Amino acid sequence: MKCMYCNGPLERSRVPYHIDREHVHVIIDEVPAWVCTQCGEAMFDEEAVDEIQQLVTAVDQRTERLAGIA
Ligand SMILES: [Zn+2]
Repeated sequence: MKCMYCNGPLERSRVPYHIDREHVHVIIDEVPAWVCTQCGEAMFDEEAVDEIQQLVTAVDQRTERLAGIA
């Protein structure tokens, strides 16, 4: 696997990921990813992307419920 930006070599690593919604901000300290040793860009596995998306959906649902509490 090569970097899609600079074609540099990738190495297995962990990077922080920020979820910024209108009223909610979540920072995951360590998400498994492939990081380019040349330009530093991080690329995520399909599995990690899927988990993040589920997390965002759950956060959205919960904040909606929270906002609905009178
Ligand atoms: Zn690169």
